[in-house]
Amino acid sequence: MEQTLSIIKPDAVAKNVIGKIVDRFESNGLRIASMKKIQMSAADAGKFYEVHAQRPFFGELVEFMTSGPVVIIVLEGEDAVAKNRKLMGATNPKEADAGTIRADFAQSIDANAVHGSDSLENAKNEINFFFARREVL
Ligand code: ATP
Ligand code: MG
Repeated sequence: MEQTLSIIKPDAVAKNVIGKIVDRFESNGLRIASMKKIQMSAADAGKFYEVHAQRPFFGELVEFMTSGPVVIIVLEGEDAVAKNRKLMGATNPKEADAGTIRADFAQSIDANAVHGSDSLENAKNEINFFFARREVL
């Protein structure tokens, strides 16, 4: 069993599709081990995406991730990291396979509906960043 971190980003929260996105996870063998809605601060978003700090889009990324509430989810299941990435689709929704979350709910490369951890190691770090152990069940 693996755990991975998903974030339903501000664009998808604003579109009122939290339930539809959660259904994609639950209908595809992933279990919700924890879930909460938060407003990220600029410090939260900057730290969370610090690997991208030198990229030209970093400022916009932080601005976007703090533009409204997000839903942070711990997903659990077999191959959860890879399974979640597959359900999400490509970073740019225009390149995302049909039927993926980004193809169905995202509009642009920055407002791309969801985040998903890209490795087991990053998943552990990202879960610890947002959740206390007693919150992940
Ligand atoms: P995420 O980390 O959010 O799950 P990802 O792993 O598919 O997305 P990354 O390469 O980690 O993609 O980029 C992090 C986020 O930065 C992307 O989700 C996207 O919102 C934004 N981003 C990436 N590349 C660009 C770009 N060229 N222009 C604008 N925003 C970008
Ligand atoms: Mg990433």
